[in-house]
Amino acid sequence: MTIVIGGGLAGLVTAHQLATAGRRITLIEKRSTLGGLIASDTIGGVRVDIGAESFARRNSAVTDFVRSLGLETLVPSGRSWIWNGSPLLIPKDTSLGIPADPHSPEIREILKDPDRVAADLTLDPSIGARVTTVAELVEARMGSEILERLVRPIATAIYSTDPSRLAINPQLKADFESTGSLAKAVAKGLSGPAVASVRGGMFHLIDMLVRDLKESGARILTDTEATGLSYSSGAKVTAVTAGEEQILTAENIVLATSITPAIALLNKVTDLEPFTVPTGKPTTHVTLVLNSAELDGAPRGSGMLCVPGTSRAKALTHLSCKWSWMREVTDKHAVRVSYATGKQVNVDDALADMNELMGTGIGPEAIAGSKTVRWGNALTPSTPGLRQRADSITTPDWLHVTGAWRAGTGVASVIPHALQTAAALA
Ligand SMILES: Cc1cc2nc3c(=O)[nH]c(=O)nc-3n(C[C@H](O)[C@H](O)[C@H](O)COP(=O)(O)OP(=O)(O)OC[C@H]3O[C@@H](n4cnc5c(N)ncnc54)[C@H](O)[C@@H]3O)c2cc1C
Repeated sequence: MTIVIGGGLAGLVTAHQLATAGRRITLIEKRSTLGGLIASDTIGGVRVDIGAESFARRNSAVTDFVRSLGLETLVPSGRSWIWNGSPLLIPKDTSLGIPADPHSPEIREILKDPDRVAADLTLDPSIGARVTTVAELVEARMGSEILERLVRPIATAIYSTDPSRLAINPQLKADFESTGSLAKAVAKGLSGPAVASVRGGMFHLIDMLVRDLKESGARILTDTEATGLSYSSGAKVTAVTAGEEQILTAENIVLATSITPAIALLNKVTDLEPFTVPTGKPTTHVTLVLNSAELDGAPRGSGMLCVPGTSRAKALTHLSCKWSWMREVTDKHAVRVSYATGKQVNVDDALADMNELMGTGIGPEAIAGSKTVRWGNALTPSTPGLRQRADSITTPDWLHVTGAWRAGTGVASVIPHALQTAAALA
């Protein structure tokens, strides 16, 4: 018997794998819902992801796992835009606005002097070879017009850092050194969409894991908080449901909560050195579900990132354009407007910001439903210091730790680590 503490993605994947391998499982989740930060809600009659909506495609682990559950993955639809006081469509086949093909019609259309960009293909490879920042490299190879028109706003919107302070990505630098051209280096690095999702929503993955777990006979205790850990004639968890305390015993325990409760529980059985948890940037997401033909044409594609200081919003995602499965289940549109730290926003603000960014004039009567989520410090940043501390933790052999704070933030880190944890136990 294994007890899994935490019913977020990490806990559910670990429990699922162990149950599939024939283990008896008890899963303990503090909240009334499962999935943790893979959260969803039904807004205006449409179920949408309100937490994580995608996963990074940097490895095939997530896709393989999702497919092993009989689910399909899909890549985003629609083009991306930047808001810099006015909308700017990010040209195709670019990275941070740097084109892989300087002769592409979209690049030539935007610039007064496109030949300066194309000069990169024939310039001596030593030009730009010693610079260290993105801005210096682009200016040296392709001139200042593309830097100002595309690279500066796009890089600033993505990284909130001016490209004059942005170090050149080591892979881009290596590709530039091997090809002698910035455009060719960008072309080498382009490899399709960086993210994908689950057809039907990320919440569909959670639903399937929970369904399989229930079918396997696993015991799932929601509204139950693990408050203590110990070992005497077996691993023991103190679990509290509606004020009632019970002690559960197992051969081993998987701790799959977020960082703060995990450290509190670890401290019950190991002497951890004082642990400073890095704080994430709080964000507010307002998701609007709308009845509006104005959005049928997806005026800003899958969405846009805003250059800091040019809009109250940080980003806008037209979810029902980005994820094609939504159009198969509803005629309504789902749009998420995201805000940075400390912004007090309401639905009216979000609608006004959406109209400005989208260039639409949609009134409040079009809103079928809305949901505002303030994420607080939910997203613990995976700093090098945290990684080092997490890696240095040793636990008794009956106790295993997984989850984003241990594995690295994001689905593409959490799933492989949970699979490894389950494999080590099974
Ligand atoms: C707004 C937002 C958007 C995101 N977008 C993306 C994205 O698009 N792509 C991506 O890859 N990642 C994204 N992420 C990150 C991703 O969602 C997380 O890295 C991942 O879901 C973390 O899973 P987890 O199981 O480790 O932790 P959690 O989801 O935090 O799960 C931990 C669970 O443990 C439970 N728990 C805590 N304490 C106890 C206790 N004492 N007893 C019992 N249960 C307890 C909690 O209630 C929770 O359910 C996003 C995160 C947020 C907040």
